[in-house]
Amino acid sequence: MSFESLPADWATWDVAQLEQSVRYHNRQYWDANAPVISDYDYDRIVEKLKRLRPDSEVLNEMGPSGAAAGEPVHHAHAMLSLDKAYDEKTLLHWATKFNGDLVMTPKVDGVACSIRYDASGRLVVAATRGSGSVGENITANVSRISDVPTRIDTDVEVEVRGEVYLPLSTFESMKGDFANPRNTAAGALKQKDPDKSARVGLRFFLYDVIGNVVDTEIDKFTLGARWGFNPVEHRLVAREQVQAGYDEYVERRDDLDFEIDGVVFKANRLDEQKRLGATAHHPRYAIAYKLQGESAQTVLRDVEWSVSRTGALTPVGLVDPVSLSGATVTRISLHNWGLVQSKKLSLNATVIAMRRGGVIPHLEHVVEPGDQMLFPPATCPSCGSIPVVDGEFIECRNRSACPAQVVGVLSHFAKVTGIEGFGQVWLETFVAAGVLMSPIDFYKLQRADLLNFDRMGETLADKLLGQVEASKAMPLAVFLQSLGIADLGKTASETLATQFNSLDRIRAISAEDLEVIPGFGQLLAERIPKGLAEQRQLIDQLITFIDIQAVENADPPDGPLIGQSFLFTGTLTQMTRSEAQSRLAELGGKAASGVSKSLTYLVVGDAGRAGSKLAKAQKLGVRVLSEADFMTLLE
Ligand SMILES: [Zn+2]
Repeated sequence: MSFESLPADWATWDVAQLEQSVRYHNRQYWDANAPVISDYDYDRIVEKLKRLRPDSEVLNEMGPSGAAAGEPVHHAHAMLSLDKAYDEKTLLHWATKFNGDLVMTPKVDGVACSIRYDASGRLVVAATRGSGSVGENITANVSRISDVPTRIDTDVEVEVRGEVYLPLSTFESMKGDFANPRNTAAGALKQKDPDKSARVGLRFFLYDVIGNVVDTEIDKFTLGARWGFNPVEHRLVAREQVQAGYDEYVERRDDLDFEIDGVVFKANRLDEQKRLGATAHHPRYAIAYKLQGESAQTVLRDVEWSVSRTGALTPVGLVDPVSLSGATVTRISLHNWGLVQSKKLSLNATVIAMRRGGVIPHLEHVVEPGDQMLFPPATCPSCGSIPVVDGEFIECRNRSACPAQVVGVLSHFAKVTGIEGFGQVWLETFVAAGVLMSPIDFYKLQRADLLNFDRMGETLADKLLGQVEASKAMPLAVFLQSLGIADLGKTASETLATQFNSLDRIRAISAEDLEVIPGFGQLLAERIPKGLAEQRQLIDQLITFIDIQAVENADPPDGPLIGQSFLFTGTLTQMTRSEAQSRLAELGGKAASGVSKSLTYLVVGDAGRAGSKLAKAQKLGVRVLSEADFMTLLE
């Protein structure tokens, strides 16, 4: 298919011209099925319009016309609920029933959603789970979620399933009387005005793909990511690791930006899933290991403020001792000043504290108000400066002169870079003495400086210096994360490192460069370059000590198949598709995601199912290989 290019002056178009153009191309694409410009160019004009007029009506008109919100949708495949386990024994018994590894994912507490795409990759309909066989049409609202592509690269009909959720950070920043993030998400999905729905900031985690030719759950996630989805975090675990995996989520639960109510385990191999089948209610190849919370009533007596590395002052409630999950609790998290206000919390209030897993319990709700109003702290408990109250957050802006923040920054740096031995107490001591004031000071530490401190022997001093020395060879992603820039966490750092693979290039990126990366929204795209610029001095100093390691898999490729690309269609009989792809990678070949002129080979497995890829490849003159030809090539 050949496309027209955009007019040379398109970059100077005003909002009206952009709207007219997007509307025209929508009709060509969705209704006439005859796009005249490439997806790339289409996305460029849509992005431009989004920037100039984020609330443009035209942005509501994406997707097929005529999908009526709220109408019943019959699911092509029943959306079954998951069987549940509450202990390791049940889980392990379940896991003896099949072969192969297990895939572990968090069970995100949102709204389950099915999204169907037609054989040309267009989003056709999105629906809630509903009764399991009939859901409710939510197409217009779902197609506005930033993680949901309205077109994907497929030549067969597919159904994508996942969880629509509201990030906790978004929920906490909302003013209103919503009970919890899940109810807010459910309400936003049923919102009649897609524009209002879009403003809520819903997100989507993909957890299943139905109807495509892959062999494993892991393949589904890879495929989903290639289509532009945000797959729910996932990894393979062996049977002896299931309890440890579950415990890890219990620990991390309060650090995640979404609520979870369990951990899901699935058989990774789809052939095993098929063999196990389903009962009338549950698939037999998956199980949800449920998290449990325990709550108890107590009385709030006092509030302490702790200072984070970013300067946020967060309230900690001191309560009458109460037993929760077998431990005596005297301190509970009150999240932030906004929560204290919205719950009208006062001293001597009777409250419900809830504990989930091993983490610090938090205030669940207020049973009876107390008798003494709470106020923001007059001074920062660490440095004594006057904090700034900004809406629901309170901040000490004394930064590098606030000991608690400096300790927080150093502690974050040490944790991310794997420098061990500098515990909280040592960091506080070193900061108080002025020996460590910035991460750069780790690399300037002298043995003699350390030996000046009480309780510091030669063995410990050498151990600490050895740890610092060992951190000097640092992967790029670790370096990025260690800077402590808001929004540049582990995932974003790894994505940047893989995409750009050079600190210089990353320091030169613009918000526009980032916006197009899957998983990076506009907000992240704007904040990261700004954060990097703010840390310019620290970065310049650190790189005089640190040897930043390039990303491993970005080594220049080598092998007999170098420069050749392969696309698979149909089912391979001698190896799985992912095995074939990793064999290819070893030999320097590349796996392609679609048929194009630049494709070297189309490998046809089960020829009967090759369909439109084969036709397209033949039309473009791409060489077609049988599985046997392909195997010969690998030898
Ligand atoms: Zn302070």
